[in-house]
Amino acid sequence: MKLLCCSLWLAVVVSVVAQEPSRSAVPQITVIRAGTLIDGKSDQPRRDQVIVVRGNRIESVSDAATARMPAGATVIDLSKATVLPGLIDSHTHIFLQGEDPAQGGYDANILTAPLALRATRATVSARRALEQGFTTLRDVETEGAGYGDIGIKQAIEAGYIPGPRLFVVTRAISTTGGYPLEGYAPELEMPKGAQIVDGSVEARKAAREQLDHGADWIKVYMTHRSWVGKDGELVSQPTLTVEELRAIVDETHGWGKKVACHAYGGIGLHRALDGGCDSIEHGLDLDDAAIAQMLKQGTWYVPTLSVYYTDWGPAETEAGQRDRLRAAVHEPSFRKALKAGVKIVFGTDMGGIPWTEPIAQEFSRMVEFGMQPMDAIQSSTSRAAVMLDMEGKIGVLAPGAFADIVAVDADPLHDIKALERIDFVMKDGKVFRSK
Ligand SMILES: [Zn+2]
Repeated sequence: MKLLCCSLWLAVVVSVVAQEPSRSAVPQITVIRAGTLIDGKSDQPRRDQVIVVRGNRIESVSDAATARMPAGATVIDLSKATVLPGLIDSHTHIFLQGEDPAQGGYDANILTAPLALRATRATVSARRALEQGFTTLRDVETEGAGYGDIGIKQAIEAGYIPGPRLFVVTRAISTTGGYPLEGYAPELEMPKGAQIVDGSVEARKAAREQLDHGADWIKVYMTHRSWVGKDGELVSQPTLTVEELRAIVDETHGWGKKVACHAYGGIGLHRALDGGCDSIEHGLDLDDAAIAQMLKQGTWYVPTLSVYYTDWGPAETEAGQRDRLRAAVHEPSFRKALKAGVKIVFGTDMGGIPWTEPIAQEFSRMVEFGMQPMDAIQSSTSRAAVMLDMEGKIGVLAPGAFADIVAVDADPLHDIKALERIDFVMKDGKVFRSK
């Protein structure tokens, strides 16, 4: 079934723009007629709009009745569709493929796959995201593939392969006992999926190395294992100390970059906030103090809901009970954060989820848990852009923004699931996919 759905996707990709960037002096002009336009920022959609794209930027957005059509423009008629800014997924792993435990799972990926194979698969993941209308990803760790994300990003930017704009973290950071590969004979020196540090000096050095090699963000694991505690509560093992995290945050902020922290709840979550993390990833179990601190510090929240509501272990196993408890605490955490006004940003953990599945399924989960559809769309457009320090450049249909534009033949404000059926994708003013 999954294979069938992939081949269908590939069949409708009509125009792969994967050549060297054009060097022609005259920028191409494209006019898009939008039946309904959701600009990513305004709370109300607008009817019958015209977007003029010159080169890789949006030049104007105006009412069709008064719009001036530039001579020689290519016209794209989306007058029966809803047109939106290119979507942003702020939590992905292009170097993971939803590794099947029956085929060796996460460990086999690191132990047996040549790096070229992993890079090739990451290329397909990036393309898959673009096909689905995700024109920007914040990709939060290569899982043992080193600085491979920098290479994929360079290949996309140079036009060798199609893919979204990438904001990458490279290797990510955790502590001894804080990341797989695990469970092997203690005599063996096993590779790890993240860079392991102990102590503030090593922590700062790892951040420096990763930033030096091109990391756009730094990713830190503030919790690792989780289990059901003796009172039935979710317990998560903390990893870095506040001092270790502060060294990383201080270094990273000095470079003008931000720190994303994986944290489920409890001690590790509070250390993440005390240490000054810019975004909390997952945040399954947010207590009231954590929410208050996030509001005070302006911390972003990337809840990655969907991935915790599928693929549970069997109910009678420890892992299965933990999986159910994670889901049980996540929904109320999300609802509390939403009500309190925490800045929620769309993220999926794709890669943890196979790339054959729809990325946009996360929208449905956000709406199911109380978010308004327009709010969910903004979490994947203008709000994500602000988090990425790209306000006005991506996540919005407005003059001056990059021409990252998608469309769907439906009204996603009434049927949020429609965002899983995006069938027009333009990135940087070039049509990547149309019907
Ligand atoms: Zn993740």
